[in-house]
Amino acid sequence: MKKVIKNFFALILSLMMVFPLFGIANAESLKSNQDCGYKLSDFNLSNNLVKDSNSGFTINDFKLHKYPNDSNLMKEKNSLASSGTDLRVSSLNAHTSEPFPNEKPIKFSFIIANVGTNKINNQPVSIQVQLDNTDILDTSVTLTLETGVILEPDTYVQGSFYITGAGGTHTVTVVALPLFIKDCNISNNKTSGRFKWADCVSLSAASLSTSDGIYQFESNQTKAFTFKIANFGTLDAKNVLIRFKVNDTAIKNATVDKIEAKHIITGQIKITFYKHGRYNIELDVDPNRTVDNINADNNSKTTQVTVDYDTEIWAGKWKNARKLSVMIYGSAIDLINNDNAGNNATNKAKKAIHAWNGINSDASYGSIYTSNSDEGWNTLDKQVSVISYDTGDDSTIAFTALWEKDGDGYTEVNDVENDKCIYVKAAVCLNPEVYPKQPAKNQFRTITHEFGHVFRLAHPTCRDKAIMRQTWDPLMTYTIQPHDEYNLNRSY
Ligand SMILES: [Zn+2]
Repeated sequence: MKKVIKNFFALILSLMMVFPLFGIANAESLKSNQDCGYKLSDFNLSNNLVKDSNSGFTINDFKLHKYPNDSNLMKEKNSLASSGTDLRVSSLNAHTSEPFPNEKPIKFSFIIANVGTNKINNQPVSIQVQLDNTDILDTSVTLTLETGVILEPDTYVQGSFYITGAGGTHTVTVVALPLFIKDCNISNNKTSGRFKWADCVSLSAASLSTSDGIYQFESNQTKAFTFKIANFGTLDAKNVLIRFKVNDTAIKNATVDKIEAKHIITGQIKITFYKHGRYNIELDVDPNRTVDNINADNNSKTTQVTVDYDTEIWAGKWKNARKLSVMIYGSAIDLINNDNAGNNATNKAKKAIHAWNGINSDASYGSIYTSNSDEGWNTLDKQVSVISYDTGDDSTIAFTALWEKDGDGYTEVNDVENDKCIYVKAAVCLNPEVYPKQPAKNQFRTITHEFGHVFRLAHPTCRDKAIMRQTWDPLMTYTIQPHDEYNLNRSY
């Protein structure tokens, strides 16, 4: 049980640097973007054009008009009576002269006549309205006594609806068929007309979504978004500027040479998120309104993602991290009770350790003992030792070493990032050359930070502030942050 700990320097797992030793210049080069929490990573537009001839047209306000009492006026002329039940659909008309203005509701009407010999009462009738042979309305109406929509032989009802669309000549068709009674002649249950809308460009931001359908994920990840831009008009759109914004800040402008009439283009943009938060992603088509486009109301699309804190923990862990026992040994007590630390320094250090309690019931520190000497610090008598250890340099304030079980004894953890071991021992080592010279708040912050390492928490690489950030890091804090709590809760 008293196996000697070898290669102590090799065990240095976590240096808290007063000054950065390497890499900071590179890290800073991304700062402006990363500090916002995101960065554009990739952008491309697909050359595959998808033809979509009907989209962009909508129908609404379908009605069947109750027929007036003046039945003489309502009689459908030239009706040829069939024996039995026979509905006839006819007289499809638009109430606006062609070409229709684009993006405005155009009223259409039609007639359903009873040209059979049977009275039709309380019967559901299926009605379809089609644009270029594709249903844009599929409904049923009941012809009843109560609503007054009863069809005596040789009478009719008038129906109406509005179609809103843009550009081109289209076939509109209305079909009406009784659902439960036999119509003895179905050749006259359908009527069609060709109608022309004015030529135009009709741009819209058709869709914007994450490519994998996942909208909540951890930070430090690159997320792909798929988008579609449609031109439902009959004229090609040229030199179309498209812009992406994250939280109202533009991150990408691109000009599309041409979006052909009646086509949709697809593209993908990748954004890397570095920070916890809610992000609003917006696609704006022709944001400066330079294209002669009939309707700019549908030119933007937004989607939101929720970015969680990232998991930044070491591979190993305690089998049971509840109430880990701590002993502050004599050499560390001398450092903690330094001139800079003020009164009751040992109690403040205990408080700094216990700051981790109450976050996760499976990870906490129990009793904190003190000793006058260093005797037994490297045994399993207490799970966590706090000692003085001179690293021989003046840039390390403190570090944490960990040991894993090894047969009947225990051995150092050399690769905390990857060694999925069970911790049996930890030592928080204070550097006597540096630790006592720090301001009091740095000393106690350092203790809390090192006891985060004892659990298994690593230095964050995202852009969220945390007590687990290193001393030199601008995102370093003096208290435990949500990032730290998230990681402790991911650990136990
Ligand atoms: Zn550290």
